[in-house]
Amino acid sequence: MDTDVFVAWFEEAARLVHRDRDRLTQLDAAIGDADHGTNLDRGLTEVRKALAESPPGTPGEVLAAAGATLIRRVGGASGPLYGSVFRQMGKSLESPVTLAGFSAAFEAGVVALERLGKAALGDKTMVDALVPASRALALAVRDGIGVKEAFERAAEAAEEGAKATIPMRARKGRASYLGERSIGHEDPGAASAALFMAALATVVA
Ligand code: ADP
Ligand code: MG
Ligand code: MG
Repeated sequence: MDTDVFVAWFEEAARLVHRDRDRLTQLDAAIGDADHGTNLDRGLTEVRKALAESPPGTPGEVLAAAGATLIRRVGGASGPLYGSVFRQMGKSLESPVTLAGFSAAFEAGVVALERLGKAALGDKTMVDALVPASRALALAVRDGIGVKEAFERAAEAAEEGAKATIPMRARKGRASYLGERSIGHEDPGAASAALFMAALATVVA
């Protein structure tokens, strides 16, 4: 996986988030403050701009630039959280990037997210989509699955993880203020995390 694939990942993620901006914002309207779609759409537009203005030379630089831009440009909680995933991933990634290397770096990114947000599996956050995706990738590596199939499995796991947040009661972030009333709605951050994984499956295909 070369630098271009990582740039393409963020371009495709930006496209999907822009396409689904209103859906993400509506999910956030139900259990938050109705800004997740606009927050992330704006952030990823800035990421595309940053990548175009100073083209990165390595996959790690793509991730570092994307992470820093999301931290700086997204007003909501999701900016620093996604930013920490990508920054840590960028630090952990070794060149040349293999599936095993990607999987290990992704796991390190998710651990950084869990440390920053202090959310665990089942708290109804983006963690509920990203941890299953990370596990699916690790299993694919263990079983010697090809790259394309591995990322498809990770995308499916993220999507299932996002849907699984519907019956959960939120224990972190704004949605937690709603207590019981957060039950019955998909978590917006888990939904956007599934889009990031879908974007990845598309660009490596
Ligand atoms: P804000 O809540 O500040 O308006 P966003 O609407 O952009 O920010 O993002 C909300 C999403 O961020 C939630 O749906 C959830 O997935 C994620 N989130 C919020 N707090 C945490 C946390 N402590 N750990 C992990 N994810 C979190
Ligand atoms: Mg919000
Ligand atoms: Mg907000």
